[in-house]
Amino acid sequence: MTHPGDPRTGRRWQALARAVIRRDQGKCWRCGRDGADTAGHVLPVTTHPHLALDPDNLRAEHGERRTIEADGFDCRGNYSHGADAGMNSSNTQAKLEHQRRDW
Ligand SMILES: [Zn+2]
Repeated sequence: MTHPGDPRTGRRWQALARAVIRRDQGKCWRCGRDGADTAGHVLPVTTHPHLALDPDNLRAEHGERRTIEADGFDCRGNYSHGADAGMNSSNTQAKLEHQRRDW
C-alpha cells in the first residue's frame, strides 16, 4: 500500500531497490535466503522519512506478495526485531530446509 509521499513509488525507487539487491547479492536481510526482489527499510519510513532513499538504510528483501505466492512463506511474519531473533529454532529450520529444496 502506497500513499502520496511514500518513496516506494516511481523510477527512482525502482533503480535504488535494484542497486540495493545487487549490493546485497540478492540475499534477504529478514530471512537470509536468496531471491530478494525488492528493498526494505531498516528504520521504518514512518519514523525516519529522511532515510527513505538512503542506501545505508536499505536492505534487500523478499517482496511480501511474491514470497507468499511462491511458497507460502511470509518472511516478514517470521522475522522479529531482537527479542525472538533466534526464531523458534527447529521448526523454522525445518521450514527453511524444505524451502531450499523447492526454490
Ligand atoms: Zn526473505
